[in-house]
Amino acid sequence: MIDYENGIKNIGNTARLKEVFERAERGEALTIAFLGGSITQGSLASRPELCYAARVFKWWEETFPKAKFTYINAGIGATDSQFGCARAAEDVLSFKPDVISVEYAVNDENSPHYMETFEGVVRKLLGAENAPAVYTFYNVCYDTGLSAEEIHSKIAEYYGLPAFSIKSTIYPLLTSGEVKNRDITPDDLHPNDKGHEMVASVITYGLEKIRSGGAPGNLPAPITANAYEDSVRYRNQNANIISCEGWTADDTKQEHITDIFKNGWTATEKGAKISFKVKGTCIGVQYRRTVQLPAPVAIARVDGEVKAKLDANFDETWGDKLCLDTLLDHGKGGEHIVEIEITEAPESSKLPFYLVSVISSGNPGPLYLKPSFAHTIWGGTRLREEFGYEEQGDDIGECWGISAHPSGESTVRSGAYAGKKLSELWEEHPELFGNINADAEAKGRYDRFPLLIKIIDAKADLSIQVHPDDEYARKNENGSLGKTECWYILDCDDDSTLVIGHNAKDKGELEDMIDGGRWNEFIREIPVRKGDFIQIDPGTVHAIKGGIMLLETQQNSDITYRVYDYDRLQNGKPRQLHVKQSKDVITVPAKSASESVKNFAQTLENTVTEMYSCKYYAVSKVNVNGKLELENNAPFLCLSVISGEGILGGSEIKKGDHILLPAGYGNVPLEGHMELVVSTVPGPMDN
Ligand code: ZN
Repeated sequence: MIDYENGIKNIGNTARLKEVFERAERGEALTIAFLGGSITQGSLASRPELCYAARVFKWWEETFPKAKFTYINAGIGATDSQFGCARAAEDVLSFKPDVISVEYAVNDENSPHYMETFEGVVRKLLGAENAPAVYTFYNVCYDTGLSAEEIHSKIAEYYGLPAFSIKSTIYPLLTSGEVKNRDITPDDLHPNDKGHEMVASVITYGLEKIRSGGAPGNLPAPITANAYEDSVRYRNQNANIISCEGWTADDTKQEHITDIFKNGWTATEKGAKISFKVKGTCIGVQYRRTVQLPAPVAIARVDGEVKAKLDANFDETWGDKLCLDTLLDHGKGGEHIVEIEITEAPESSKLPFYLVSVISSGNPGPLYLKPSFAHTIWGGTRLREEFGYEEQGDDIGECWGISAHPSGESTVRSGAYAGKKLSELWEEHPELFGNINADAEAKGRYDRFPLLIKIIDAKADLSIQVHPDDEYARKNENGSLGKTECWYILDCDDDSTLVIGHNAKDKGELEDMIDGGRWNEFIREIPVRKGDFIQIDPGTVHAIKGGIMLLETQQNSDITYRVYDYDRLQNGKPRQLHVKQSKDVITVPAKSASESVKNFAQTLENTVTEMYSCKYYAVSKVNVNGKLELENNAPFLCLSVISGEGILGGSEIKKGDHILLPAGYGNVPLEGHMELVVSTVPGPMDN
């Protein structure tokens, strides 16, 4: 007797399945797809309609006689979930299935790699636009009891995937001797007709059970590095071929999903070479291993380095195999050149070498950030009214758009890292930042995300202040960083001014002026206009005055010494001043004002204009009016849209958006009518 209850490993989140059940009751048209390996394909069932997938499909038809069902069997023998990631879009999702069964438990192994590739395919299926119901089940090797159930079940539990186990239902009948192996499987792997029937019964029991109970939920952030969800498979219709000598594209039509050796390339001569350009951190290559010996051998290089020997000789009897070899696993992001070269071509080879596809994945997309806000006595309402931020109150002083500072962190709005704080990403995913924080201690830098981007709305004057440099802050502020900052004036009144620098000739005069409260003599106030850029080195006395909105790019630090606060009161008390520290750090005499200010209101259209670069940051203004491709090889790029709207690589962006482009994103395609302030850390990626 099959212990069916025991087969329900995870009831999961049944919301999507229940919705499908309701639609089926109403008699709608529904598509049921099955993705997996040879067992799904129906191997060793005597007729296709006797395989488990067809039997489960029949359960749907019989359970909901009013509905109209379409059957998609996307099983391919001897293929794993790594390939599943790459072909799911074309072989399954293109049919817009309402229900998807996914099984890879005997073709994947119990390893972190297959946990990741299985997560990739699960996310891809769950994340499909039409929100299909997805469930999985775990086949088993009937002699050894081996399967990838252990690692697959972690993914199933995490995503609330209903999951059913053959190891917990049918396998015990074999170990107890109640059923003989050969009665249900000729090779201890593929079920025969009877075996397929039993497998189907485990699944349909689970589906029946799910018609009661369950709760809805969203797709959570991934638990693995999740570099396979965005897999793209390149065949001769879509590959970016750089050079080709001695290879022929196979253009014959692929008739069926299992017609797997099509639309690739063939070669017969030793020395034949083909090279492709792909993007990503993970790269795989697919080729045919054939039982018709002897067969040719090739090598695969990535960026000139040999990564794999692709031996087409297959010493088996069951048929030709579609082999997927990994060439790069969580390597450096960005563009790579993949080259395949034939190294052995025996004259007696019956078949050419068949290169089926190159697969790449792990291309990080833009990270859209959700800012945090600071309410201040000098703040206003323009951040809500003009920038569209959903923040209440009439004292919103600062929007911390791109921030990993504990006083106000940005979090990722959507995608694989949704909900993550920027500081968490920095710690957990150094690859997103070009690994510049590797060896941070030894280099004494990049021990935290280095930049902080704010938009400031000063309805009233800010206090007159000064920031320390790194050395002073490290000694006196618990190892904090100093603060070098710069401002880009987004908007201001016609007669606006800023405080920048002071008029004291030497240290003695500085102390006299501060101690005597001779503020009018001490501070240097200069007129400013929209588009002005002002660099503020540590030690520079400065203050933003009322009527100004600006974007600030600064070191990731919040150390401010207040010199003078106009004798204002907050909650009935004056705010704390830091007179001693201010006197310590103020530079005497001050740099001339004209050295610090430059106007960038009018920059060339569709051009990147660098406004300033120092050891902490490089800040540019980007003026988009039409189309522009921003060259980018930086470890990461901070983008803030300061006016207008447009498109970034296919997604709409608008004034007020803050975006972090991770390492390997490559050049940035921008389109529309908008202005951006863009910043990164200076220097090449490997500094
Ligand atoms: Zn400041």
